[in-house]
Amino acid sequence: MTTTFAQRLQKLPPYLFAEIDKVKRQVMAAGKDVINLGVGDPDMPTPPHIVKALQDAATNAANHQYALDQGKPALRKAAADMYKRRFGVTLDPDKEVLPLLGSKEGVGHIHLAFVNPGDIVLVPEPGYPVYHSGTLFTGGETYWMPLKKENNYLPDLDAIPADIAKRARMMFICYPNNPIAVTAPLSFFAKVVAFAKKHDILVCHDAAYCDVYYDGRKPPSFLEVPGAKEVGIEFYSMSKTYNMTGWRVAFAMGNADMLAGLAKVKSNLDSGIFGAVQDAAIAALNGPQDCHAQILKTYQERRDALCAGLRALGCAVEPPQAAFYVWVPVPKGMTSAQTTMKLLEEAAIVTTPGNGFGPCGEGFVRMTLTAPTERLKEAVERIGKLKMY
Ligand SMILES: *Cc1c(COP(=O)(O)O)cnc(C)c1O
Repeated sequence: MTTTFAQRLQKLPPYLFAEIDKVKRQVMAAGKDVINLGVGDPDMPTPPHIVKALQDAATNAANHQYALDQGKPALRKAAADMYKRRFGVTLDPDKEVLPLLGSKEGVGHIHLAFVNPGDIVLVPEPGYPVYHSGTLFTGGETYWMPLKKENNYLPDLDAIPADIAKRARMMFICYPNNPIAVTAPLSFFAKVVAFAKKHDILVCHDAAYCDVYYDGRKPPSFLEVPGAKEVGIEFYSMSKTYNMTGWRVAFAMGNADMLAGLAKVKSNLDSGIFGAVQDAAIAALNGPQDCHAQILKTYQERRDALCAGLRALGCAVEPPQAAFYVWVPVPKGMTSAQTTMKLLEEAAIVTTPGNGFGPCGEGFVRMTLTAPTERLKEAVERIGKLKMY
């Protein structure tokens, strides 16, 4: 019996962090007090009224059967209503809203609907790895769009060669950005719409963090731009907004034909979201939002503590505009990997080296704000003792 993986799996990028993971396990096994600033997963629990809605809904036998592929009408309506309130965007709940088992699922499956072997997919780097995995799984080719400081970490669409733009079928963008934690202005989204129209490219905007923001400055939706719905869709997730990463519920919104393609793929792979989880998501979207305000307040306090602490050490970190990441420049003369390793071995702090998200991430490590303020202050103190900056 040969169990050689298919070529599509063999083509996945090599895992860069094997060595770092080994050391991480050693540090943990040695019983050290590890501060984990590596994982992008909220440490706070889901708000109690949402958990209660799940508990109640779990006893409803109607929820024990296969769910509808396209989700409950009340869930699609709750999502459309939220987009109207939050962004002023009008969506038809029956054709322009598609519930997903988390946005990762949609972001990874959309290629199956629209990308043929040899088609080009435009993907930002550094970035979330799933955009590229989906391309590989369909035999497409990724064209990397570098995110550079001199362009405010936005892809330079004018720098994309004409022959590439011609062959491109799909484009991914992600704002607020993971890992860089910057936002994009509406003027950039308008440029993307014009570019997509000109070259007949389908746009997928990953907005997983659009409701994790600071100082009350709410990031916009791609769908706010006139014409956006003609060229693309946006992924909105419950995961980060309501501390619901484990629940697996998100939405794709926008272009009805793109959603129909994604729905067709999904109808062959999954059978919808557990009905009780849908009911809980409805309760989250339609219910009181003070839980969300509290979540934002907590991240803001953490951000301010970590960034002020790092700056006091001489590290020229820019506080994030949104998302729960801090994109920290490494000390002079060190690489991302060396910095991550030193922090791990000498301070028992877990971070992610920026180049793990793409070569343009070299020179940075990503720290998450998913640890309490006192732990972040403790991390700053330990980094200070290393005299790296
Ligand atoms: C967390 C994250 C997701 C996945 O969100 P789910 O809805 O939980 O699948 C998607 N994109 C980015 C950039 C993320 O960081």
